[in-house]
This record gives sequence, C-alpha cells and structure tokens, in this order.
Amino acid sequence: MSCQNKDKYYQHTLKKEIHFKGKGVHSGKDVSMVIKPAPPNSGINFFRSDLSGYKSVKAIFKNVTDTSLATVIGNGDFIISTIEHLMAAFSGLQIDNGEVYLDNYELPIMDGSAFVFTEKFLRAGKKQQKAARHFIEITSPVELSEGDTFVGVYPDNKYNITCSIEFKNPVIGKQVFSTEIIPENFVEEISRARTFGFMSDVEAMNLLGLGRGGSLESAVVIDEDTILNPDGLRYENEFVRHKLLDCIGDFALIGMPLLGHIKTSKSGHLFHNKFLHFLFSQKDSWRTRSFV
Ligand SMILES: [Zn+2]
Repeated sequence: MSCQNKDKYYQHTLKKEIHFKGKGVHSGKDVSMVIKPAPPNSGINFFRSDLSGYKSVKAIFKNVTDTSLATVIGNGDFIISTIEHLMAAFSGLQIDNGEVYLDNYELPIMDGSAFVFTEKFLRAGKKQQKAARHFIEITSPVELSEGDTFVGVYPDNKYNITCSIEFKNPVIGKQVFSTEIIPENFVEEISRARTFGFMSDVEAMNLLGLGRGGSLESAVVIDEDTILNPDGLRYENEFVRHKLLDCIGDFALIGMPLLGHIKTSKSGHLFHNKFLHFLFSQKDSWRTRSFV
C-alpha cells in the first residue's frame, strides 16, 4: 500500500491559518473568519471572537439547534449559523481538526458553494498528525423515512453518497448523483456546486427579512423555467451535486469519518439531523474502527 493510501488513516489539520471575509446569506452581516490548525482528537470547533471569553462549540450533530434554513449549532446563549458548506470542505478534504473563529454569528456564504473554502484549504496544505483517524463503520443497514423523504446508510469499505432529488420545476426535474467522498472527487465534482433557490422563495424570504446577503453572486436563482445567473450552471446537474455537498457537511457532524454508503432522497438539513440521532441510537449497526 502506498503512502498516499495510508495517509487517510491518520488525522490531519491545516498547515497554517487562513482568513476569509464575507457576508452571511441569511443575516446579511459582514463577518471575518479565521481558521487555525488544531491538535489531534480535538475535531472542528467554532469560536465567537466577538463575545467575551471566546465562547466555543464543537461541530457535532448533538449541538445542532436549528435547521430551518441552514445548519445552526449552539451552546446555550450563542449560535453559529450556516456551517454546512465549510463542514463539507473539512470532510471532503479529510481535515479532521481545526479551530474556526468568527466575529459574528453567521459564516460567510462566499459564492454559495464550498469552492472558496476548498481552494484556500488546498493552498494552505494539510499536515498529518501522529494520531489514527477513528472511523464510524456501518455494520448493518439503517434506514429512516418520512413521507417521500428518505435516508439510509449501508455497509461499505469506502465512504460513498448517492443523492437523489425531484422538483416539479422543469429546470431541475429528477436528478441522481453518486460518488465516493475522497478529496479528488470532492474538489472536481462537488466543491463548486452552488446553493439554489427559486425567485418565488427569494421574494418570500425578502418579506421575512431573510436572505439579506443572498444574490446571484452567492446562489443559483431559478425563475419558473429560467436560470437568472448570466453564466448559467457550473455542472449540468449542479442542483443534486449541491444537495450532495450539503449531505457531506451535515454528516461531517458525526465528528468522525464514515465508512459506509449514504443514500438520500428528497432530504435536507432537518432530516439529516434526525437521521444522525436515529443512527446513533441503533448501537448494533455501527462500530468505531481505526487502521493504524
Ligand atoms: Zn447548501
């Protein structure tokens, strides 16, 4: 087995700290974000540098407090909002440990995908740490459905996701996408897929005072049968690829890498979180495993 292959069995952090500036998509608030390397076995932790005492919260599914528009984690009296695309970049690039400092409550949306996070992570580089990665290995199928929403995980010696969506809107229709979640595939096939919304929802969200930071720079916007972004789509099936990106981000909240095949149909942040609570109550269906 080559070094490259063994690499995935060790924990990693970033080689150096990186900086971002942007706007929260729902809050419209300016935010600066700094991501720093972190010690082995610490996971991904978020800190609010604008609050006294650098309050922190760990990025795990038990700390999710809201999923109505985005995935929000919190710790008592404070929240961190819209973490899913950054979490997808950590998971997709197999970066296990990091400290994320924000001077506001919502992460910057950047271009609506994980592209900017991914680019900067790649430029900073990964550092291997002297600790084994502890995987959650699925040992028997776990399935959960509600109406036509479905999530299942199945035994697999790799980490695969198959995502399917179906919208009445003719621009989207029915789309299915499946890939192994390894850095090469994440960078090429997933990281650039942007979030999307419908003009009718944009109007609705404006009425609610949400989506203040949203625009054609940070989302694909569909008006009936037309894509309003002048440059069109980045991938022919960008919509389902973005849903897969969201799925990676939400399952990153296991806090450990997964060995298994996730299949989702018409799912979203709320149901992903429900599923994770259900999965970890099924103690005979998974075990932890390391390889070094
Ligand atoms: Zn998303």
